[in-house]
Amino acid sequence: VRLSAGAALIDIEGTIGSIAFVRDVLFPYAAKRMEAFVEAHGDEPSVRAVLDEAAHQAGVPAGDRPAIVDALRSWSGMDAKVTPLKTLQGMIWVEGFNDGEIRGDIYPDALAALLRFSRGGVRLYVYSSGSVAAQKLVFGHSVEGDLLHLFGGFFDTTIGSKLEASSYQRIAAKIGEKPERIVFFSDNAAELDAAKLAGMQAVQLARPSDGVTAAGTHAAVATFDGVEIET
Ligand SMILES: [Mg+2]
Repeated sequence: VRLSAGAALIDIEGTIGSIAFVRDVLFPYAAKRMEAFVEAHGDEPSVRAVLDEAAHQAGVPAGDRPAIVDALRSWSGMDAKVTPLKTLQGMIWVEGFNDGEIRGDIYPDALAALLRFSRGGVRLYVYSSGSVAAQKLVFGHSVEGDLLHLFGGFFDTTIGSKLEASSYQRIAAKIGEKPERIVFFSDNAAELDAAKLAGMQAVQLARPSDGVTAAGTHAAVATFDGVEIET
């Protein structure tokens, strides 16, 4: 696939790295570290505030650490969207990435493409439903080291939903390129529809390893191998 663009906007899960990374690596790591993290940091004001909120939501006494940890574990097992759990998981991941216990998952073909596009003068941006802080952890502590320097900027859903064309228009304005001069890469056909509606070029990553098949509505590739962008 040969494209002409000044900037590439790139999704993470299913595009740069595996969809399974969050489920198979990040969530189990947070669950495994939960008790030790609470023990080590539970008296720090920022952590204590989160534990108090967890106790409140679980209906257990704020001082009952084992009961709080049990509640957190149980929410984690159900993948419950409970704010104190999400906040603690985030804190645990920051520690894990900083300690080198977890590394951001990046497919080799994706890394090669990022380097190739960047060398060719294409400006690179990330758009993921993971927070910008989480995106920076993934790329700052990747299997290939610190890759933050490759990117001109990071966007998450604070700019808008990935399924709405207006989000891509806002991103284009922030990047300072016409939408037609930006190519969006994602595994998700509905996201690509929204980007195309905003005027962007759209390419689907249909990676067999992630169980994604080509939707048929966009240009599709199985990997970034052979994807070239001229500016
Ligand atoms: Mg994705």
